[in-house]
Amino acid sequence: MAEIILKNVNKIYPNGAHAVYDFNLEIKDGEFIVLVGPSGCGKSTTLRMIAGLEGITSGDLYIDGERVNLLAPMDRDIAMVFQNYALYYNMSVYDNMGISLKLRHEQKNIIHKTVKDMAMRFDLTDYLNRLPSNLSGGQKQRVALGRAVVRNPKVFLMDEPLSNLDAKLREKTRSEIVKLQKELKTTTIYVTHDQVEAMTMADRIVVMNEGYIQQIATPFDLYNYPDNMFVAGFIGMPNINFIEGTVHDNYFHFDGMKVAIDEASIPKLKAYENKEVIMGIRPEYIEFGEKAYESFPDAILDLPMIHKEFLGDEYYVELKLPSQEITARISSEFHLTSQNLKVVFNMKKVHFFDKETTKRIVEE
Ligand code: ADP
Repeated sequence: MAEIILKNVNKIYPNGAHAVYDFNLEIKDGEFIVLVGPSGCGKSTTLRMIAGLEGITSGDLYIDGERVNLLAPMDRDIAMVFQNYALYYNMSVYDNMGISLKLRHEQKNIIHKTVKDMAMRFDLTDYLNRLPSNLSGGQKQRVALGRAVVRNPKVFLMDEPLSNLDAKLREKTRSEIVKLQKELKTTTIYVTHDQVEAMTMADRIVVMNEGYIQQIATPFDLYNYPDNMFVAGFIGMPNINFIEGTVHDNYFHFDGMKVAIDEASIPKLKAYENKEVIMGIRPEYIEFGEKAYESFPDAILDLPMIHKEFLGDEYYVELKLPSQEITARISSEFHLTSQNLKVVFNMKKVHFFDKETTKRIVEE
């Protein structure tokens, strides 16, 4: 059990690279935090500073109220799972997973029960007698996870622990980690570049870019209330569409077309009359069908369809605006046969962003 606080934490590497800027975060006891962002944004550096594997250039790190900036990694009671597994190669899978209990002089039957349970959870039952060198990358990764969990530390730190698993196993292991974490209530910080992992696993997500925190929020809030264009663009598949245009007379004008701005958005766009803004609309809110047309009669567009992908329950459809392409997600209950597609923007679900600051426009 542990509460972790990072206050104005910075990391400047000896070569001058400023990897993390003023990182502020309070992690509650038992919380599952995911750090997400593109490669090089400072996620691993942050995690390694918490682990004690990397020095903190300035700022403070507290675990359970104690400032631990200078505490050695082994004194922090943290278990870390890396992309590369750091297993003991001369020990069987069984011994790798049980080693921490053995060192604590646990009874044999308890070690046995715990290791068996972990092996079940991570699909390793058939491999308990093998040496790590005879395992696939995915299996090694799961042994590393099992070993960390068996240790029962105050904090789990995980750096892309599922990166070597194929898609199916990744989903299964992902849910095993979350279920285990909920059972154990161990504070967990998890690093990934994969927004799906972040969205499905986290209590709260920290989105980072170029060393800066972009937003800290629950998956729901990140998706529905992104603070800026970076967050809106990073979360969601396929990506949100950004359309440049001008606000005028309660309409959003773009590419020689216009759509009526929803009543709820009108007050916050007051300061933007006749100004350029960027509208963000997620593919699922470019809708098709009579019901949708009725809801937003002033936001219907007839657009050429460039390409469609069938995914079983839905299509991803690329539509052509004069100056760009946009993507829609349309239920496959509809038969999309014509060259053009009549779609409607769900104007209750769009976001407007300030073109200069890239921040989402919210009411003052
Ligand atoms: P991420 O985990 O998000 O991919 P990292 O934390 O590994 O990002 O890296 C953040 C930035 O710090 C990158 O620009 C990277 O090149 C730089 N960096 C990482 N490790 C070192 C190091 N040991 N020395 C110098 N620069 C580093």
